Amino acid sequence: FEMLKIEDLHAGVEGTEIIKGLSLDLPAGEVHAIMGPNGSGKSTLSYVLSGRDGYEATAGSVTLDGEDLLSMEAHERAAAGLFLGLQYPVEIPGVSNVNFLRTALNAQRKLRGEDEISAADFLRETRKEAEAFDLSMDHMKRGVNVGFSGGEKKRNEMIQMAVLKPRLALLDETDSGLDIDALRVVADGINRMRSPDRSFLLITHYQRLLDYVKPDKVHVLQDGRITRTGGPELAAELEREGYVGIAA
Ligand code: ADP
Ligand code: MG
Ligand code: MG
Repeated sequence: FEMLKIEDLHAGVEGTEIIKGLSLDLPAGEVHAIMGPNGSGKSTLSYVLSGRDGYEATAGSVTLDGEDLLSMEAHERAAAGLFLGLQYPVEIPGVSNVNFLRTALNAQRKLRGEDEISAADFLRETRKEAEAFDLSMDHMKRGVNVGFSGGEKKRNEMIQMAVLKPRLALLDETDSGLDIDALRVVADGINRMRSPDRSFLLITHYQRLLDYVKPDKVHVLQDGRITRTGGPELAAELEREGYVGIAA
C-alpha cells in the first residue's frame, strides 16, 4: 500500500463542498508539501483527514496503510498513527502539557493493544524531547500552551510529535507566524524524525519552511483540487511567480 492514498476526495463543512476531487499518493518515508493560496482548502483537508467534527467527506476514499481512514473516529485515526499539528494550537488551562501528552500516548497505546508507558519511561522521554526542542520542564508542567508564545507552541507541538512517534504527521501551516529561530527548530524536528516508515504532509502557504525541509514532492492546491505536482523546484517557482502565474 501507499502509506496515504487519497482518491477523488470530495469533502466540506456544513453542506459546502470545499475539497472538490482531490487525489494524492504519499508513500512511506516521503515528505510531501501541499501549497496553496488562502481559501484553497488546505485547513479543510487537514480537518477532514484528522476527523474533526463537522467536516465530512461526501465522495472518494482515503486509506492509511490500506485501512479506510474516513470510517474511523478521530481518536482511532490517532491510534492508527496520524498526528495533526494545528495552524492555531489549542490552549487547555488546567491540564498540564505532560499530563495531556501522557494521556494521549496511553490512549493510543491502549487502542493498539499495548501496555501503558511507565511513569519513569514517559518522563525520561519527555525530558529528552523538551531539552531537544528547548522548552523547560517548567513549561511542560504548565497548562497546555497556556501563556506560550507562537514559537513555544510550535516547540511544544514538535515535542508532542517526537513523543507520539506518528506514522503520518500532518502539519498545517507550521511556518505561519514563526520567527526564523522557531522555524529552524520545527524544520530540525521534522528532519530528525524523517524515517523510512514515517511520512509527512506539510500544508503551507509560504515556501519558507521548504528552505529547511526538502520535500520529495510539492503539490499545488487550488480551489479544492491538486492542480500541479512537481519536485522541490516547484516551491521556488511558486515563490517567484505566485499562485496566479502557476494556474493549470
Ligand atoms: P486555507 O486553509 O487554504 O486558507 P480553508 O480550508 O480554511 O482554506 O478554507 C477553504 C474555503 O472554505 C474558504 O473559502 C472558506 O471560506 C471556506 N470555509 C471554511 N470553513 C467554512 C465553514 N465552516 N462553512 C463554510 N465555508 C467554510
Ligand atoms: Mg488560511
Ligand atoms: Mg488554513
